[in-house]
Amino acid sequence: MKGTIGVTTENIFPVIKKFLYSDHEIFLRELVSNAIDATQKLKTLSSFGDFKGELGEMNVRVTVDKEAGTLTVSDHGIGMTADDIEKYINQIAFSGAEEFLEKYKDNANAIIGHFGLGFYSAFMVAKKVEIHSLSYKEGAEAVKWECDGSPEFTLEPCDKTVRGTDIILHIDDDNKEFLEQTRIDALLRKYCRFLPVPVVSGKEQEWKDGKMVDTDRDRIINITEPAWTKKPSDLTDKDYLDFYHELYPGQDDPLFWIHLNVDYPFTLTGILFFPKIKNNFEVTKNRIQLYCNQVYVTDSVEGVVPEFMMLLQGVIDSPDIPLNVSRSYLQSDSAVKKISSYITKKVAGRLDEIFRNNRADFEQKWDDIKIFIEYGMLTDEKFCEQAMKFCLLKDTEGKYFTIEEYKALIEPSQTDKEGNIVFLYSTDTTAQYNYIKSATESGYNVLVFDGQLDSHFVGLLEHKIEKSRFVRVDSDVVSNLIPKDNRREVDLTPLRRNILSGMFTSQLPKVDKATFLVSFEALAPTDAPIVITQNEYMRRMKEMAALQPGMNFYGEMPDSYSLVVNTSHPIIEKIGENAGKELDTKIEPLEKGIEEKNAEITRLRSDKSSDEDKKQADTLLGEVDKERKQVSDITAAYASTQPVVRQLIDLALLGNGLLRGEDLSRFIARSVELL
Ligand code: ADP
Repeated sequence: MKGTIGVTTENIFPVIKKFLYSDHEIFLRELVSNAIDATQKLKTLSSFGDFKGELGEMNVRVTVDKEAGTLTVSDHGIGMTADDIEKYINQIAFSGAEEFLEKYKDNANAIIGHFGLGFYSAFMVAKKVEIHSLSYKEGAEAVKWECDGSPEFTLEPCDKTVRGTDIILHIDDDNKEFLEQTRIDALLRKYCRFLPVPVVSGKEQEWKDGKMVDTDRDRIINITEPAWTKKPSDLTDKDYLDFYHELYPGQDDPLFWIHLNVDYPFTLTGILFFPKIKNNFEVTKNRIQLYCNQVYVTDSVEGVVPEFMMLLQGVIDSPDIPLNVSRSYLQSDSAVKKISSYITKKVAGRLDEIFRNNRADFEQKWDDIKIFIEYGMLTDEKFCEQAMKFCLLKDTEGKYFTIEEYKALIEPSQTDKEGNIVFLYSTDTTAQYNYIKSATESGYNVLVFDGQLDSHFVGLLEHKIEKSRFVRVDSDVVSNLIPKDNRREVDLTPLRRNILSGMFTSQLPKVDKATFLVSFEALAPTDAPIVITQNEYMRRMKEMAALQPGMNFYGEMPDSYSLVVNTSHPIIEKIGENAGKELDTKIEPLEKGIEEKNAEITRLRSDKSSDEDKKQADTLLGEVDKERKQVSDITAAYASTQPVVRQLIDLALLGNGLLRGEDLSRFIARSVELL
C-alpha cells in the first residue's frame, strides 16, 4: 500500500529538520523511550493475563551498522499491526503548526511533546526510516513501513518473525556522527542511563594484548532500578552513596541526602544530595537532573526548584512537571509552584530531623552546609522560618549554638543599656585576633561570620531576632561595643584634650584609601594605649556595595577608622603631662583669645546685627582661623620631637595591617633607635 502522511501542513519533514537543529540528538531518546513503552505495555498485558505467550528476552537494542549506514532501535514489545501504524504513525494531528513552530523553534522538547512527534524526530538525522513490526496480537502479520522524508510512505507485509519492532534509520550525510558507537554511547549515557528496561548497545570490552577490545558479551548501558525508584527502607547508606557516585563520578561523598516520594496531589520521586561544595565550577557542572518516568529530560531545573536549591545535586523524577513549555510559563504554573514548595518543606524538614536526631553529625557538617542554608534563609521566607530552629551560630572557640541557645547564653552579659542583645562577631579571626582577645577577656562571646554570604546574613538575623544588634568586634573599643551605664568618663581638661588631639592628628601617616579620626576613651589602664576601630555602619555599606552592581559610590569611598586614644593608659598620661609642661603656657592664651573672639562673633551675628557688625564678625573669624593654625602648628612642631607619639600610632596601624611600605620601614628604624 502507498499513502500520504496525514499532515495538514505542506510537509512536516523540512520543518523538523530546520527548526530542531540544536537538539538533534534527542531523536535517540524518543525512539528508545517508545521502545521501552512498548516493552512495558506488553509486560503489563502479560501480568493481567491479556497476553498469554512467552515474554522472552525483553531488552531494547541499539545497533550501529557503519557499513550499511544504519542505526537500529529494536524492541520485543507489543509491536504494531498495519492498522496500528496507520493510526499512530500516519495520522499526525497537526493544526496551527507553523505559528507554533515559529514560537518554539529553539525548543525541540516543546515541539516534539506538543505534537506527539517523538517518532518523527528520527527524520532530524535520517534520510529514510523503516519500521519492521510484528504485533503481539494473535495471528498478526508482520509489516514494513518505509518513508524517505517526503510525505509519501509505503506499507507492506514483511517476513519479520520475532515479536516487536525494529526502527531502522538510514542516517543522512550531515549526521554521520550518529554512526559512531562512541557518540551513541555518550547519548545513551545521557538520556537512557536509568531507563527501566535493559538497553543493550555494543559489546562489553576487555583488556587484551595492550588494548581494550570487544568481547562477544552484550553490553547493558543502563541501571534499570535506580535508587530513587526504590523505597527508602530498602536502601542502605552505601546504596545512596553508590548512586551519588554513579551520577557524579569523582566527587567527594555528599554530606546528606533526602529521598523525595509523593503521589498526591502530584507524583514526584527523587533523591537530593547536599554536596561538599569546593568551587563554583562544580556547582554549575553537577546539577540536579530532571527525569520523566526515568527518561532524562534536562539538567536545567530553574523554576522547578527554588533558586537556593540549585546548589543541591541529585535527581527529580516527575511526570507532572510540564516539560514542553517555556521557562516563564513553568514558573507561573500552579502545579510547579506546589512541587517547588513541597521540595522546600521536605528539605527543611529533613535538615531539622538530622539536627534533632544527630546533632553532633549536623555540627560537624555545618561549615559545609552553612552556605546553602544561609542562601535559603536569605531568599526564601518559608524556608527561613523553618531554618531559624536549626540554623547554627559558631563562636571563635568552635562551639555551635542554635539562635535561641546563643541568645540565652549572651543575654546576661551582652545586653546594652537600651536592652538590646549585642551579638559580637568576627569576619577574620586571625586579623581581628586582638579585638577578639579583648572582648573575651571582658567576658563576651564572639561569633565567627567569615562565609561568603555572611555580610547579608548578619542583616537578616538582626531583622529576625527581636531587640538584637550585630556588631563587628573591631568596630569599637571593647568598652563601647556594648554600651552600659557604668561607662568611665574621659578625664581631660579641654586644653589638654586639644593639645593631645593636635599631637596625634599631626603624626598620623597618610594611608591609601583610609581616613582616621582621633578620639578619646577612658579604657582600662591595662588596655592598649591606642586602638583602631572601624565604624560598623560604614563598613557594612561598603561590603554591600562590593556585592551589588550600581552602588559604586560607597565602594569608592575610603575606609574611615577611629584612632582611639586610651586616656587611662600610663604612657598617654605621661605624654599629656609632658606636653602640658611644654605647651600649656603657649597655647592657653591663644585658646582664651579664640574663645573670647568666638563669643564676640556670636554676639555680632545676632538677628539685629548691622552690616557693620557683620563685617567685623568676618574680620574676627579670619583672626580665629589664624590663631587656630598657630595652635596646631605649635602642637605639631612639639609632637614631631616626641617619637613615642608616632611610635604608638604605628603600632596600632601595624596591628591592623595598615602599616605598609615606607612608613613600615621608618617604623622599624625608629624602633631600633628607641631601643
Ligand atoms: P508518542 O510516543 O508521544 O505517542 P510517537 O510519535 O513517539 O508519539 O509515537 C506514536 C505512537 O506510535 C505511539 O504512541 C505508539 O502507539 C506507536 N509506537 C511508536 N514506537 C513504537 C514501538 N517501538 N512499538 C510499538 N508502538 C510504537
